[in-house]
Amino acid sequence: MTEVAWNPLYGVPVYPAERYASLAHRIGRLLRTDNDVLLVQAEAVVALEAVATSLARPGLSALNVVTSPYGSWFGQWLRRGGANVIDIVAQPGRPIEAVAVAVALDANPNVRALALVHAESASGILNPLPEIIALAKARGIVTIVDAVASVGGHPLEVDALGIDIAVIGPQKALGGPAGVSALSVGQNAWELILHDDAPHNSILALADLKTWADAGRDALPGTPAPLELFALEAALDRVEAEGLGQVLARHEKAAFASRAGLTALGANLWVPAEQGSNLVTTVSLPSGMEATPIIGFAARLGVEFTPGVGTGSSHLVRINHTGARATFQAVLANIVAYGAALRQAGLPADIGTASEAVANAYSD
Ligand SMILES: *Cc1c(COP(=O)(O)O)cnc(C)c1O
Repeated sequence: MTEVAWNPLYGVPVYPAERYASLAHRIGRLLRTDNDVLLVQAEAVVALEAVATSLARPGLSALNVVTSPYGSWFGQWLRRGGANVIDIVAQPGRPIEAVAVAVALDANPNVRALALVHAESASGILNPLPEIIALAKARGIVTIVDAVASVGGHPLEVDALGIDIAVIGPQKALGGPAGVSALSVGQNAWELILHDDAPHNSILALADLKTWADAGRDALPGTPAPLELFALEAALDRVEAEGLGQVLARHEKAAFASRAGLTALGANLWVPAEQGSNLVTTVSLPSGMEATPIIGFAARLGVEFTPGVGTGSSHLVRINHTGARATFQAVLANIVAYGAALRQAGLPADIGTASEAVANAYSD
């Protein structure tokens, strides 16, 4: 008989149920909110689908800002539940303009909910969140923010801005696990969600999670996945030890240094810095150059670049500086790799000056 080794990952201890409430409380602190914080034992896109499914119903009108596939999925989930959805779609890979949202709200006075993504990891853009939330608040509209990419990378002041629902995942700027996510839900949102036909007895039912929160959060609905919960706790420990302010500053610095280095290389930034996220910088390649060979060249140096997302994006390359990559070393490697790729293609690039620009950004 062959002996099969027993991997210790099979026998993970139970996550102590009395610590769920503390996880929720600590996430609320990161989001700067006193609203209910709910845990979802799945990746963040499931939490987003739960929000749309729980809000949607015939008769509800929603304005849905689309700046990536996540936004278009959110609109589809709302429609599936019978809601009347007005999509406002930004130019590909660009942020939405607050004025476009104001015009759409004025044209659709029945809108009761507005959804948008804060920062996009797909394109590296930042939407004008405070302006858009203020437009919605002035009209009494419930706001839903996909902050999965932005949490830890950009300030996210849920209560100060008045965000009714904020959805986050720990696996991007917070550097945590991908299999658990969270959301905050305020009173106005609960009033919209809790109605006679609200979904129940479903992994997508926020009403069920409210029952959990109201009952003191001492047991999760469903079967707890201890590995994910221990990993979430470890990520929160690390973020708190570093300090949220420092995590945010680290991402801001990485974005600034990346743009300084790229500019010194003569690269074209896809969006101006004030429209860019602190997570990813997208560059527009010189004409005639395609993304694939650049990405392949960087990969041979151990540097991961990714292609642009969406139609007409084959000339875009995304340079990631999120989470563990928001450091001097990772940013410098990105810039050197990009410069070397340009030179390999026969284009001029002053890698020395660009490296110095990165170093200068870090030595202020
Ligand atoms: C990554 C991401 C998601 C999806 O998160 P998963 O945890 O991968 O499901 C949703 N929205 C935005 C803006 C993201 O960047």
